[in-house]
Amino acid sequence: MAKRHVIVGGGTAGWNAITTIREIDRGDSEIVLVSAENPYSRMVLPYYLSKEIGEAHVFTASETRLEALGVETRFGRRAASLNPNDNKLILDDDEEIAYDDLLIATGSSAVRPQVPGADGANVHSFWTLDQAREVTASLKPGVRVAMVGAGFISFTILNALIKRGAELTVIEIAPRILPRMVDDTGAEIVQGWLEERGVKILAGAEITSIEDASGGGKILKLKAGADIEADLVIMATGIKTNLEWLEGSGVEMNGGVVINDHLRSSESNIYAAGDVAEGPERVGDGKAVHAIEPTAMQHGRVAGANMAGVDTAYEGSLLVNIVDVLDLEIASFGNWNDEEAEVIQDVKKDRPAYRKLLFKERRLVGAILLGRTRDIWATNDAGMLKGLIQSGCDLSEWKEHLRGNPFDIKRADLAVGAAGALLPETLLGRPSVPERDIAVQQ
Ligand SMILES: Cc1cc2nc3c(=O)[nH]c(=O)nc-3n(C[C@H](O)[C@H](O)[C@H](O)COP(=O)(O)OP(=O)(O)OC[C@H]3O[C@@H](n4cnc5c(N)ncnc54)[C@H](O)[C@@H]3O)c2cc1C
Repeated sequence: MAKRHVIVGGGTAGWNAITTIREIDRGDSEIVLVSAENPYSRMVLPYYLSKEIGEAHVFTASETRLEALGVETRFGRRAASLNPNDNKLILDDDEEIAYDDLLIATGSSAVRPQVPGADGANVHSFWTLDQAREVTASLKPGVRVAMVGAGFISFTILNALIKRGAELTVIEIAPRILPRMVDDTGAEIVQGWLEERGVKILAGAEITSIEDASGGGKILKLKAGADIEADLVIMATGIKTNLEWLEGSGVEMNGGVVINDHLRSSESNIYAAGDVAEGPERVGDGKAVHAIEPTAMQHGRVAGANMAGVDTAYEGSLLVNIVDVLDLEIASFGNWNDEEAEVIQDVKKDRPAYRKLLFKERRLVGAILLGRTRDIWATNDAGMLKGLIQSGCDLSEWKEHLRGNPFDIKRADLAVGAAGALLPETLLGRPSVPERDIAVQQ
């Protein structure tokens, strides 16, 4: 009998697992995909908001494509519980699906602070396509938007809001903006850049309630300081992993489902991938939840390969956050906030440009990069810094040079051959096959 793989969650991780299984077995197994939403990419939602792409371009797989790949679907349905003793998944309508192996790829959801009015009219999250539709429909030039939260997700939609003509106020509870992406120096430069371009920023500000104003607007009350009036409130106040349905299953969970370097959970035929998984890190020996697109893609592919019977070990995920806001490139990599690392840093005096390099002995373990997008190094160096951290190349002969010239990363990169070290490395031990070329045998 054909092996049955059950994939729970049709986002980046789930979809990459499916294509990888089919790339390997060409249709020799059964695949059942259970997903609360049809497959799409959350990462492109900012471009949908800015109207650079239409809604059709958000989706990653149509029902026709899934059918052609021999995937049986249950869309609009949720996994309700898991019984590893009987190898059964139970859905929200009590349907039971038996599996030989199963992938947990249920991602994460947006969370809002527990303040009065946080669930009121004209208060939105921006995590799902439905939420993006609501915000997109409410935007018109001159709309006053209060964005609560100044983290990575908030910054991914900032360009789109400005482009659509919004008047933007950003409110952040932490003492600085981007608190989990850059340090104080970086945050100060970004804040200055945005304020010069008309974005109002309140850091260290706590919202106590969101009330209705006459005429359909909103009033945000703060613990200290004047009220903020807005037409639309966007809550970008963090995410939580979608783990509730696994309670009582016995699958080991911490911040996410704990997985090993083969993406297996504590149950050997249950895998986890993407935002919902806590897996090995590329830098160091620990495990972490890296809720970013590259990790979801890599996890999905490695889990898919193992589920299809090709023994594949994963090198671990690297935290990479890159965002361009109003033509300022902001990026951080790896252990950018490691307090025990040796730090080399510099700020340019004549323009907004900041570089921070974090070393553990001879290796680069983290970095922050800030610079105008039009300064060519800002974009080019992002790839090199990521490569140097990922490759773990020995930089001992270049450390002194970098201490005096932290912006001159190119010479060090070329000299130690980081690109050459990474070139032979492939996720699955072979070149990848374009998705369009993956087909089942008739
Ligand atoms: C606006 C925005 C911009 C972003 N920009 C970037 C970026 O620039 N760079 C970057 O690296 N990352 C970015 N991200 C994050 C990135 O999108 C996520 O890391 C990625 O989507 C994770 O993929 P995933 O497959 O793990 O989870 P998801 O894409 O969240 O997919 C999870 C799937 O599981 C389904 N599901 C959930 N619970 C259940 C259940 N109980 N039963 C059945 N199905 C369920 C969901 O409906 C969904 O289909 C962005 C995210 C957003 C929202």
